[in-house]
Amino acid sequence: MAEQEYDLIVVGSGAGALLGAIRAQEQGLKTLLVEKTDLFGGTSALSGGGIWIPLNYDQKNSGIKDDLETAFSYMKRCVRGMATDDRVLAYVETASKMAEYLRQIGIPYRAMAKYADYYPHIEGSKPGGRTMDPMDFNAAKLGLPALETMRPGATGNMLFGKMSINAFEAHSMLSRELKSRFTIVGIMLKYFLDYPWRSKTTRDRRMAGGQALIAGLLTAANKVGVEMWCKSPLKELVKDASGRVTGVIVEKNGQCIQVNAKRGVMLGAGGFERNQEMRDQYLTKPTKAEWTATPVGGNTGDAHRAGQAVGAQLHLMDWSWGVPTMDVPKEAAFRGIFVERSLPGCMVVNNKGQRFLDESGPYPEFQQAMLAEHAKGNGGVPAWIVFDASFRAQNPMGPLMPASAIPDSKVRKSWLNNVYWKGETLEDLAGQIGVEAAGLKDSACRMTEYAKTGKDLDFDRGGNVFDRYYGDPRLKNPNLGPIEKGPFYAMRLWPGEIGTKGGLLTDREGRVLNTEGQVIDGLYCVGNNSASVMGPAYAGAGSTLGPAMTFAFRAVADMLGKP
Ligand code: FAD
Repeated sequence: MAEQEYDLIVVGSGAGALLGAIRAQEQGLKTLLVEKTDLFGGTSALSGGGIWIPLNYDQKNSGIKDDLETAFSYMKRCVRGMATDDRVLAYVETASKMAEYLRQIGIPYRAMAKYADYYPHIEGSKPGGRTMDPMDFNAAKLGLPALETMRPGATGNMLFGKMSINAFEAHSMLSRELKSRFTIVGIMLKYFLDYPWRSKTTRDRRMAGGQALIAGLLTAANKVGVEMWCKSPLKELVKDASGRVTGVIVEKNGQCIQVNAKRGVMLGAGGFERNQEMRDQYLTKPTKAEWTATPVGGNTGDAHRAGQAVGAQLHLMDWSWGVPTMDVPKEAAFRGIFVERSLPGCMVVNNKGQRFLDESGPYPEFQQAMLAEHAKGNGGVPAWIVFDASFRAQNPMGPLMPASAIPDSKVRKSWLNNVYWKGETLEDLAGQIGVEAAGLKDSACRMTEYAKTGKDLDFDRGGNVFDRYYGDPRLKNPNLGPIEKGPFYAMRLWPGEIGTKGGLLTDREGRVLNTEGQVIDGLYCVGNNSASVMGPAYAGAGSTLGPAMTFAFRAVADMLGKP
């Protein structure tokens, strides 16, 4: 077998893997990154690119005061003992340094002053300022043809499926701020008038969210000279007689190659959500690989298995970063429904037609509630999101644009009774979707009543600052609206995820631990390949990418002996 040698081998090309490779190469370690698919960027490239960074450099602009003790105590409470205190502390201490490093390498971020932590009832949470959104990135800096090797963004994250929109603009649009109309026109004009760029590629020059993050990281990786191979899956890890991991076997051009690593191997090969067998083994049922919002063909847990084969301990394998998803024809992966479920005038029901959750709550808890409802025998899988003609007129829902922009007559015919269902009355709709009509009518009646009083007596929707982030601030309760005007609509939700969160257990430096709790020399793990430092929780938007990159940053420091 052919052999090659580097200082560091990084497996995968999501945000954590890329940041680790850049940092290591820049610090003098000759680094090779191997990616299984034909495109770099993984799920990270589809993502919103948000990072949850306590004590970040832009917090002062958001008017939020934060300190290490408060951030640590909040995160510790979220984690509920499922990640050790020293890992949690390592995260809180280093996340802001990592964000500063991103800025240094050309990927500046802005703090989101109004985006609250996900658990406002937990002491130490903040009403905003810890989540950061990447500044727009000009794809010309990465350039062609490199851009064509990067995974394109998710259609659902783009305006009309084509134009980039950042988190601030999306929020303004969904809150129906007047200025958002001008913003949208501005985005469209910029896109359509950029003939010089559009004559070269269909991708938007202006990148936002995960596209901005990954384009920035790929630009930095090229600049410092990281060697990167795509279509080169990790097959197994190589260890020596002492148990130290000394390299990898990868498949390239149909051949297996042994690549030796003098300083270490960093696994960043994502979760196992695309592997049905592993889902059946570990996740709550029912569970299906097709429900996930992550790229097809990518994350099948290969590096979980490779880690296990060298004695690594697995942890949190029954947890995922849950989100309700929808099947949209012609989109490769299911689409995550992060925002629309929070807007006033919709509700989510089981097959008895009853609500069973706060629709505006954090998405991981939403997915868990669907599974729990199903387990009770009430049919939460699928669940149905139901809304009326007034909601339909003004709001998007998954792939349906507001009817004021694209009325039903202009929606693809094949979507009726496939993507959405429509009934003149609630009874009619209930019959079509197989939900109990009496329950559905009662739920709609209650929602209409709650919209008047501004108080959801069943699930307290809109009763906290997190819920209210996406809503209509002009209403008594930004998340509550009547459901009374026909025709009525329903769409199907599945308990999907944006990644699994169980994986190889690591210490505070990202070093992998064996089943006895001892460090496996030479082996590091980051991102969804590793057991999350967030335990079962999602402390705030950006809780997956923030830790992935922060522990990659720490791992490189450890390799260099610079804690
Ligand atoms: P990935 O980014 O999935 O990268 C793993 C890579 O490893 C893939 O490219 C895969 O092909 C490769 N790989 C797999 N097996 C092998 C192998 N055997 N050999 C070599 N390579 C291999 N999280 C946030 O924190 N903030 C957000 O704003 C956010 N928004 C999101 C929006 C959407 C629509 C989605 C889908 C997700 C979002 N997430 C967000 C979640 C986040 O994107 C993921 O949790 C994160 O990208 C996982 O990073 P990772 O590096 O672990 O894995």
